[in-house]
Amino acid sequence: MTLPPITTMIPLADPGAAYRAHRDALDEALGRALDSGWYILGKEGEAFEREFADWLGLPRAVGCANGTDALVLILRGLGIGPGMAVATVSHTAVATVAAIEMVGATPVLIDIDPDTYTMDADELLAVLQDPPPGLPPLRAVIAVHLYGQPCDLDPMLAACAEAGIPLIEDCAQAHGATLGGRKLGTLGVAAAFSLYPTKNLGALGDAGVLATADEALASRIAAIRQYGWTSRYISDMAGVNSRLDELQAAVLRVRLPLLEAGNARRQHIANCYDAALADTAIVSPVRRAGATHVFHQYVVRHPERDSLMALLKEQGIGSGIHYPVPVHLQPAYLDRVALGPAGCVETEAASREILSLPMFPELTDEQVDRVCGVLRALA
Ligand SMILES: *Cc1c(COP(=O)(O)O)cnc(C)c1O
Repeated sequence: MTLPPITTMIPLADPGAAYRAHRDALDEALGRALDSGWYILGKEGEAFEREFADWLGLPRAVGCANGTDALVLILRGLGIGPGMAVATVSHTAVATVAAIEMVGATPVLIDIDPDTYTMDADELLAVLQDPPPGLPPLRAVIAVHLYGQPCDLDPMLAACAEAGIPLIEDCAQAHGATLGGRKLGTLGVAAAFSLYPTKNLGALGDAGVLATADEALASRIAAIRQYGWTSRYISDMAGVNSRLDELQAAVLRVRLPLLEAGNARRQHIANCYDAALADTAIVSPVRRAGATHVFHQYVVRHPERDSLMALLKEQGIGSGIHYPVPVHLQPAYLDRVALGPAGCVETEAASREILSLPMFPELTDEQVDRVCGVLRALA
């Protein structure tokens, strides 16, 4: 089979295309925020928090500086800190684990289920029932909905309820995904969302938001994000500075109503890739039954991942690895982070074989066709 000539490189993600696709509305919103003369924690931020909470169907959302801080603020708001352990996965953005250490708590990293790349719920249950020796008491779980796919949340929620500890959702890659018809971000005690430019809902800079049904927790966190102020210049609790700025909030108010259409476009592209990969040796993503996957990333698996990546590059197709090195093997964490009893065998195997294909709503039909044609020809 002969392939069409390469004209331009198809990138893995293209935040510039997302800006250009709605340039007029974004410029207008930015102009409005600039003209207001008020740049941090103002009317745009308040309106975004209300609109985001309404979209989720929760009473409260709190904007902050980024997704890592959203996790930190939730942990602090729940009183998680030194002398406590928090369980999550090693197969995640390093930010999830960094947030646990930022509050002084001790991470415990659980292996993944190799089909969905999300936390192995049985392993979590084993750690809750029989904690690894030498570890401080386990006081919270951060469930990561990786790549836009819900993790196996129901048994994890049941186990956390039984243990009397909170489950926090890391929804940084899963804006709009559902599990059994329920929106992710509404199922645990609180949920953290990154609004980094390439996320399914992204700002034009750093931003984050967290949401919860617990109004007292939301009020505590809203104070913690600004020096612990409950009234101006009076800190009732120790806090940090992690505010959302008005320019980003104005951008996010334009983009929130576009999220469902963007997710639908991602799902359409995923269906095209699935069809192209049928009957090839490249393993396409498994979709959890009863869930919607919003394809923050479309991640395939192949034993010869590096050569597949090089062949795609020769054909002008960008790809990425999320993530090439599990957190527990990163230089900053090596040999000092606790793992679950079975280690992280599946995490390490996946990190050697996974590859993310171009995935963003502004990919054109021609670009999608070209990726599909190359995949069919290579396989
Ligand atoms: C992006 C991301 C974060 C961190 O968000 P930032 O806005 O970059 O701080 C946390 N967890 C996951 C799973 C992410 O993908």
